[in-house]
Amino acid sequence: MTKIDAAFYRGNRTFTVEQADAPAPGPGEVQLRIAYCGICGTDMHVFHGNMDARVGLNRIVGHEMSAVVAAVGEGVTNVAPGQNVVVRPLDPCGTCPACKRGHAHICHNQKFLGLDTDGAMQELWNAPAHTLHILPDGMRLDHAALIEPVAVACHDVRMAGVQPGEDVVVIGGGPIGVLVAMVAREAGGNVVLSEVNETRLEIARALGFDTVNPAKEDLKSVIEARTGTKGADVVFEVSGSQPGVDAMTAVAATRARIVMVAIHAKKPQVDMFQFFWRELKLIGARVYEPEDYDKAIVLVAEGKIASDTVITDVSPLADIQKAFEALDASPTALKSLIKVGDPA
Ligand SMILES: [Zn+2]
Ligand SMILES: [Zn+2]
Repeated sequence: MTKIDAAFYRGNRTFTVEQADAPAPGPGEVQLRIAYCGICGTDMHVFHGNMDARVGLNRIVGHEMSAVVAAVGEGVTNVAPGQNVVVRPLDPCGTCPACKRGHAHICHNQKFLGLDTDGAMQELWNAPAHTLHILPDGMRLDHAALIEPVAVACHDVRMAGVQPGEDVVVIGGGPIGVLVAMVAREAGGNVVLSEVNETRLEIARALGFDTVNPAKEDLKSVIEARTGTKGADVVFEVSGSQPGVDAMTAVAATRARIVMVAIHAKKPQVDMFQFFWRELKLIGARVYEPEDYDKAIVLVAEGKIASDTVITDVSPLADIQKAFEALDASPTALKSLIKVGDPA
C-alpha cells in the first residue's frame, strides 16, 4: 500500500507527523492529493484538548483544504483525476428531519469531515465524492484553502439578507469576522468592524474598513453618529463574548437582523427587552450550503477576498506542531496554512 505523511493529533497539545497507509478510494470516494490546509479555530480547540472526547487521540484533522484529484472510486462520475477541487466537509445522514426538510447542512447526525472522520492534514485523503466542488482554471491552491471559511461568511451574509446601502456592524475581527465584513461589503453593505485588538484593527483598516475599538470608543455612539441615530440594519456577532452580545442589541436599528455567528461556550446574557422594543430579529447561522460554496469560489476567483492579506503564515506539514504553537502564542494572526504537499 502507498505510504504517505500524515499529521496525527495525539492529545496534550501534540501533533506528530507519521507514516500512514493510503488506501485506494472506496465506492463513492475520491482520493485527493492535498495541496494546502488551513488551521481553523475548531482545530485550535482540538489542540487545546477541548474536543478529545469527540476526536480521540488518533485523529488526522483538517478541513480548510485544496487538492488535486488523484483517483476516483467505483461509481464516481462528478470529478476526474487531475481536477483541482475543495471539499465541503459535511457528510449528512440523509434521513433525519433536518435532512428531509432540505437542511442537510444542519443534519441532526452530521459527520464533520476532519473532526468526526480523518481530514486533510495528510498527503492523500479519501473523501466522499458528493462533498467536492471543482475549482476554476487558474485559481491558486493556497487561495483555494480559504474557500471553506469564506463559505461560512457567505452563509452568514445570505442568512442576514444584506441589501445594498444597509448599515452593517461586524462585532469581532478574527478570521471569520474579517471575511464576513468582506462578503457583506461585497453585498453592498456599509460595514463597520468592531474589534479590541490593535493588530487586527490595523489589518482591517488596511483592507479599507472603518473600524471601532470598543475598549477606547463607545460603539453605540459611533454607530448612532454614522446613521443619524438609526442604528445598524444588520449586526453580526462574531466575538463570542459577553461585551459583544451587549453591543449587538445596543447598536441595532428598529427591526434589525442580528446574526449569531460565534460559538458561545457559555450562555451569554441577552438584552431581551431590545428585541421587544425595536422588533429585532435574531438569526442563527451555522456552516454552509452548496450555494455558499459556489459563491465563495467566485469571490476568491475574482480576487474579492484579499487572500494574500488573510493568509498570514504558510508552514510545511513537517512543522505542523510549530504552526499550532505559533498561532496559539499569537492569536492575532489571521489564517495559517499548512502546505501538505505539492500536487500541481
Ligand atoms: Zn473551518
Ligand atoms: Zn440528517
